[in-house]
Amino acid sequence: MKKIRAKYAGTCRRCKKAVEVGEQVYWATGKGVQHVECHDAKQPADLKALNDRTRGEFDDFELVPEDGTVWLWGYGTYKRGSVLAGQHRQARLDSFDSLEEARAAYPSVKVRDDGTVNMHASHYISLPDVPPSDFDPMDAGEEW
Ligand SMILES: [Zn+2]
Repeated sequence: MKKIRAKYAGTCRRCKKAVEVGEQVYWATGKGVQHVECHDAKQPADLKALNDRTRGEFDDFELVPEDGTVWLWGYGTYKRGSVLAGQHRQARLDSFDSLEEARAAYPSVKVRDDGTVNMHASHYISLPDVPPSDFDPMDAGEEW
């Protein structure tokens, strides 16, 4: 999420209220805008610290136990200006020896406990036959 001044009137994705032109908002490609207050108010301290540390490059985080190590994964989309702009991105951000430690450090991050590895990633990388509802060929400049 990037802090900008709204160029267009819109709707906050958190509180569903109006966003006025010129208002300070957080914005991300494909995610829309949200009021600064809404963004800050509902963000737990551990997530806020994580977003600060990663400069808002990830939209989602997950704790994943793998072979005795618990990894903190970050998921997001490469930003405009990157050669990989728009592509799914994921990275290991931290590791712990136990789930207890990981939970203590990141109480707000969900834990994957179904024993699978990288389901999240493959979900993004493999394209379904039908485009998602928000896919717009005019916007993407390419066809599905
Ligand atoms: Zn709002």
